[in-house]
Order: sequence, then C-alpha cells, then structure tokens
Amino acid sequence: MRSHRHKESSSLGVLVTSTESGMIEPPTLHPEIDLTKCIGCTNCVAACPEQSSHAVLGMIRKKAHLVGPTDCIGHGACKTVCPVNAITLVFGTSRRGIDIPRVNPDFQTDVPGVFIAGELGGMGLIRNAVEQGKQALQNIAAVVKEPHQNELDLVIVGAGPAGISATLGAHESKLRYATLEQEELGGTVAHFPRRKLVMTQPASLPMVGLMSFKEVQKETLIEYWQQVEHKTGISINYDEHVEAVEGAAGGGFTVKTNATSYNTRTVLLAIGRRGSPRKLGVPGEERTKVVYRVIDPGQHRNQNVLVVGGGDSALEAATTIAAEPGTTVTLSYRSAAFSRAKLKNRELVEEMEAAGRIRVLFNSNVQAIGERSVIIDVEGTNESIPNDAVVVSAGGILPSAFLRTIGINVETKWGTE
Ligand SMILES: Cc1cc2nc3c(=O)[nH]c(=O)nc-3n(C[C@H](O)[C@H](O)[C@H](O)COP(=O)(O)OP(=O)(O)OC[C@H]3O[C@@H](n4cnc5c(N)ncnc54)[C@H](O)[C@@H]3O)c2cc1C
Ligand code: SF4
Repeated sequence: MRSHRHKESSSLGVLVTSTESGMIEPPTLHPEIDLTKCIGCTNCVAACPEQSSHAVLGMIRKKAHLVGPTDCIGHGACKTVCPVNAITLVFGTSRRGIDIPRVNPDFQTDVPGVFIAGELGGMGLIRNAVEQGKQALQNIAAVVKEPHQNELDLVIVGAGPAGISATLGAHESKLRYATLEQEELGGTVAHFPRRKLVMTQPASLPMVGLMSFKEVQKETLIEYWQQVEHKTGISINYDEHVEAVEGAAGGGFTVKTNATSYNTRTVLLAIGRRGSPRKLGVPGEERTKVVYRVIDPGQHRNQNVLVVGGGDSALEAATTIAAEPGTTVTLSYRSAAFSRAKLKNRELVEEMEAAGRIRVLFNSNVQAIGERSVIIDVEGTNESIPNDAVVVSAGGILPSAFLRTIGINVETKWGTE
C-alpha cells in the first residue's frame, strides 16, 4: 500500500515538474487517455519501453496520465496493452499543432516523383523508419524502371535509419543514386544522449538482413551502421545540406545543395522531423570552430567557449562544458530569461553562474565571430570576448516550410489521429 502511494506521489511530482517547466508538448505520436474508461490496471505504465529511463506514464488517483509528455517518443505499446481501449494515439495537442505531410500508401507525396519515408511522414521509431525506407525504395525502383532522361534515378535526402535503409536498397537494385546528409550517419540516433539505451524491435535491412537488436547502446548501433556502410560500399555524401527541390525543365527534379545540384528522376525525403540547425547568419560563422551541438564536452577543456541559445540543449551544452577543467563558458541568449528550459537545467546554470563557472549574457546578440574572439552586442553595447569555440544551440528550422516550397501538402494535427 505504501509503495503504491509512493509511486502515485512520484508520478504527481513528475507531472508537476513537467508542467511548471513548460515541458508539456509531446514531440510526436503520443497517447491520449480517456479517464472515464481507464480502470487503473497500470498495464500501460509497465509496457512503456522508455519507462526505465524516464517516467513517461504514471498513475494519479488510480488513473493513467502522461506525466512526462516530452519524453514520449511514440512507441505506442501503451495502446496495445490497454484492456478497455482507453488510449488513442494522436499527433499534436489542442495548444500546439504538428505538421504531417500527406503521403500515399506507396510513400509518394502529392508531387509525383517525390517520396517520403521515416519519421517525417509521422511514424516515429527506428524500426518503422528502416521498414519504410526499404518499402519506399521498392516503389521508387518501379518508377525509375521506365525510361527517363535524368542523370540520376534517385536522390535520397538524409542518412538516418530511413535513409540508410533506402540507400542500401538503391545500391542493391543498382540504381544511379546520391544520398545527401547534412550532418553524420545515423540521423537522430547520433544525437541521443551518450550511452542512451536504444529500444528497437528487430528490423531487416536490404543487403544486410536482420538487424536483431532489442536493446542496444546508441554508440553500438551507430558503430554497426558504420560497419554496414563500409562493408557494403554504399555511398553517402556528408556535410551536404539540401536547400531546394525544384521541377526540372525536361521532367524530374533539380536538387540544390550547399555544394552543387543534381538532376534526378525521383527524390526520397528521409529528413526526419528535427529539421536543420538554425544558423546565426553572422560574419565568421563558417569557421570550423563553430558547431551546432556538443559531441564531447571534454574536447573543450581549457578553452574559452561561447554557447548561444536559451533552450535545454543550450543550457545542457553550457553546463557540461563548464564542468570541464580550465574551461571558461559564456552563455549568450537574446531574451531576458530562460523561460523555455527545464527547471533542473535553469537551476544548474544559476548554481554554476554563482560559482563563477558560467557567465550568462541575457539580451545579447552575437555580431561577429573572429579567429580568437567574438563580438557580442550586450544590451546595446558591443563587447569583444576571447574565444576558441562557439556552440550554437538556437533550435532548428522545421521541415514543414521546406516541404511546402516543394508543393507537398502538409496537414496540421491538433491532438488528432
Ligand atoms: C531523445 C530520443 C530518443 C529516442 N529513442 C528511441 C528509441 O529508443 N528507439 C526508437 O526506435 N526510436 C527512438 N527515437 C525515435 C527515432 O530516433 C526516430 O524515429 C528515427 O531516428 C527516425 O528516423 P528517420 O531516418 O526518419 O529520421 P532521422 O533519424 O531524424 O534522420 C534524418 C536525417 O536527415 C538529415 N537531414 C535533414 N534535413 C536535411 C537536409 N535538408 N539536407 C540533408 N540532410 C538532411 C538529418 O541531418 C538526419 O541525419 C528517439 C527519438 C528521440 C528524440
Ligand atoms: S492500460 Fe488502459 S486501463 Fe490500464 S491504466 Fe493504462 S489507460 Fe488505464
């Protein structure tokens, strides 16, 4: 009885913390629980694969609640185990809509020749992305079999699980393809926290066969994909950001990137939902010392580091780097308070600021990035600060706007299936 009460009060605590810190919007597909139907069996809490690392679902007054909405990644296991059908899986909430592109069962969009696979289409999880990448490729192979004048059969955008799977399929089918990735192999998985336990159902990759992990550390999964890339000889162009997809004069498409352009019969968008990192647009941003996420805080040891942004990722970057010996961290944010970040992160920044480990500059804007310094406008006055590295954590540009420029219909879901 006491343990039951303890669990109830800890669920309530998680819900209060999530609400107070504004972490109330689930990023993807998530359960909506009909409390009039819920009989409090706790099956859903036990079934959630994320529950071992975060409290996602919890029981409050003998009813199930989504207590950690931002940690829900759409496994959907809760719905399957509910004996009374109290759970509906929905996208978005009444407060915040989520854009989902219209995709046909063959993965083709309203623009014939442009396909979508993976989380961008609405369905999260690695296994689903792998399966969709494979299936989309089979449909694309049928389209490009017809004679065409384009230089390539296919451009795949993104090398996350969906893009890797589609690339293997294209290679196996001997298509003329190019896979373009703005960052690195693995997509969102490469951005998971260090040593995160990845939960995935077995999935089958073209050329390779069954990827039979159930529980695997993020680093092991990335290493596995790197070996697959190496052994199969698939070709992926890294650091290539697709900026536009336009209809080509003789049919097919022109895909424009930061490096070049490609003439292709079809395009597969496997770009996920994280979007592209927002840039500052200031002189000097092209310097190699400017990065858009922290890979290893230890590499900033003994450096003067500027972190730009006011969300959780900026605060986490600043505090983990500031914990390294000999490091000086300045955290620049254009607003007057960190209102978007979790309470825990805000408190840690305050503690580190009080201890002189981080200097926080509210109402500040970076003006220029030099070789050994940066210029920041702090409340109207320019300041030059010694600098060895800049971490920009200013959010991402969501893919919806990009999809609309291609002519793809995007529907906004407000807590609907
Ligand atoms: C914190 C967290 C934990 C998760 N844990 C799990 C888990 O345990 N198990 C699980 O199954 N799923 C998990 N997921 C979900 C899973 O990561 C995603 O569903 C999956 O990665 C989607 O794969 P994708 O290939 O569709 O897209 P992504 O993995 O997002 O890959 C998209 C790729 O496209 C690239 N790209 C985007 N735009 C462009 C452009 N314009 N030009 C060039 N390249 C571009 C990106 O750089 C990226 O590499 C988790 C998600 C998060 C956020
Ligand atoms: S599985 Fe269904 S009935 Fe059981 S606690 Fe969850 S929502 Fe309620």
